[in-house]
Amino acid sequence: MLGTMQDWPLLVWKLIDHAAAFHGEREVVSLTCEGGKHRSNWRTVRARARQCAAALRHMGIQPGDRVATLAWNTYRHVESWYGISGMGGVAHTINPRLFDDQIVYIANHAEDRVLFFDLTFVALVERLAPRFTTIEHFVLLTDRAHMPESSLNLLCYEDLIAAQPDADWTEVDEKAPAGLCYTSGTTGNPKGVQYSHRSNVLHAMAASMTDTFGMGARTTVLPIAPMYHANAWSIPYTAAGCGAKLVMGGPNFDAPTLQELIISENVDLALAVPTVWLSMLQHLEAKGGGLGKLERTAIGGSAVPRSMIESFDKLHNVKVIQLWGMTEMSPLGTVGAACPDVAAMTYDEQLSYRIKQGRGVFGVEMKTVGDDGAELPRDGKAFGRLLVRGPWIVGSYFKGDGGQVLDADGWFDTGDVATLDRYGYMHIVDRSKDVIKSGGEWISSIDLENAAVGAPGVAEAAVIGVHHPKWDERPLLLVRQKDGATVTKESVLAYLEGKIAKWWTPDEVLVVDDLPHTATGKLLKTELRDRYKDYKLPTA
Ligand code: ADP
Repeated sequence: MLGTMQDWPLLVWKLIDHAAAFHGEREVVSLTCEGGKHRSNWRTVRARARQCAAALRHMGIQPGDRVATLAWNTYRHVESWYGISGMGGVAHTINPRLFDDQIVYIANHAEDRVLFFDLTFVALVERLAPRFTTIEHFVLLTDRAHMPESSLNLLCYEDLIAAQPDADWTEVDEKAPAGLCYTSGTTGNPKGVQYSHRSNVLHAMAASMTDTFGMGARTTVLPIAPMYHANAWSIPYTAAGCGAKLVMGGPNFDAPTLQELIISENVDLALAVPTVWLSMLQHLEAKGGGLGKLERTAIGGSAVPRSMIESFDKLHNVKVIQLWGMTEMSPLGTVGAACPDVAAMTYDEQLSYRIKQGRGVFGVEMKTVGDDGAELPRDGKAFGRLLVRGPWIVGSYFKGDGGQVLDADGWFDTGDVATLDRYGYMHIVDRSKDVIKSGGEWISSIDLENAAVGAPGVAEAAVIGVHHPKWDERPLLLVRQKDGATVTKESVLAYLEGKIAKWWTPDEVLVVDDLPHTATGKLLKTELRDRYKDYKLPTA
C-alpha cells in the first residue's frame, strides 16, 4: 500500500519556477567577462533559461545528452545550467583550471555534444577543439558585439536564445541525470559524478536550512566557490529555491574586487575555500575597508585554520561556518553550526569545536570504522575511515568507472580519516593518503598545517611525510612567507611549541617560494611528495 499524496517529481527547474513565481523581482547580479556589472532577476533568468532549453532542442540535443560548460559564475552560466537540465540534458561543468589533457579526457569521456564557454576561454577552446571527439557546437556565452574572430564556427549565445520562444520544460524522471562533475583526479583519471534532479533538489533544500547555510528570501548570497567545483556548493539551486538575491563575481577572484562586490551589493553570506579568504584577510589587514554587511562566510574544501575563524570574529565581526563535503556528495556532508551544549561554552572552548568540520546535515548518515571494518565509538578520540550514505551521495561513478564503490550495506568510503564526538561533530584527521605514519602512530598533516599557518609571517603551510630510517615517516613542513616577512625554521618551531604534541614536531622546516595547488586550490600533496621523495631529513 502507498500513501495517498501527490507524486510531484523533484526536478531542478521547479526551483527556478518557484523563484520566478514568488521571488520574480529578486535580483541576480553578476560581474561579467565583458567587464562591468549586469543586473537581472529570477523571472528573467527563468525566461531566458527556457529559451536556452528550446535552443538546445532545436540543435537536436536529446534528454540524457551531455552539454558542457567552461564558464565562471555569471547569470548566463546559471541560465544555461537550468536550460540544459530543463530540457532533460545533463549540465556538465568542466573546471577550466585543469590541464589541457584532463579537459580533453573529461569532455571526450562524457561525450559532450555542445560546449558553452566564456570569452576568457576562446584561446583554450580553439587550442583543444581538434582533440574534442564529440562536441558538435561551440556556443560563446556573450552577445553579438563581443563575438571574436575565430578559427572555429562559434555560435553566439544571445543570438541563439533570442531566436527561440518561451517553451515548456521537459518532464523527466526525478532520478534522471541533471548534472555531471568530474573529481579532480589527483590519482589516475578523473571520474564523473552524475547528479540526478532528485539529488540536486533534496540537496538544495537541505543546504538552505538554518543550521546549514541559513538561507532565505532576505539573504544576499555570493558563491565565490565556482559552479564547476561541486556545483558552487549548490548555491544557484538553493538561492532559487528560497528566493535569495544571488551575486556572482564572474572571472574575478581577487580580494579587492570581491570586497567591493560584497560591500556594494550588501552581501550577507559568501562562500569560498580557505585560500580565497586567506588573501581577503591579508588584503583587509593591509588596506582596510571592511566587508560591509557581511555576516557569515561558509568555508570548506580544506580545513579552516583556527586563526582564520578568530580573525573573522575579532577583526571583522563575521561568523565562519565551516563545512565539509566532496564532489561525490553534491557536496554537502557536515556544517559547523553550534549545538546548544557548545554554544553555552566559553569562546576558547567553542573554538575547539568550530575547527572541527561540523555536524551531519539531515540526509547524510556517517560513521567511522577501524581497519577491521567495525564501527568506532563516537568519543572524539577514536579515528578511522569515514563512511557516508544518503540520497545525494554517489552510488557509482559515470559509466561505471572505478567499479563498485559502495560496500554491501551501501556505504561510500570518503577517503578521509576522521573522529566523531558525542555532540555529533566530525573532525577530519587527514585524507587517508596524506596521513603521516610515524613509528606506527599517525600524525595529522592537516592539524600541523593549521597550527603552522598561525605562526608570524607564515602565509601558507604544507606538511608531508618523508622517509625516515627509524620511524618510517616523519613530517616535513614547508612554509611560504608573507610578503616582506622573514620566517625561519627556528621561528616556526618556537611558535609550534606547546601547540602540538612534542613528537609531532616537524623534523625539518623549509621556507619555499611557492607551493603547488590543484585546480580547485588545494595543496597538491602528490606533487610535493614527488618533489621530496629522495629528501634526507637531518639526523639529530
Ligand atoms: P577533490 O577530491 O577532487 O580534491 P573535492 O572538492 O571533492 O575535490 O574534495 C573533497 C575533499 O576535500 C574531502 O574528502 C576532504 O578531504 C577535503 N575537505 C573538504 N572540506 C574540508 C574541510 N572543511 N576540512 C578538511 N578537509 C576538507
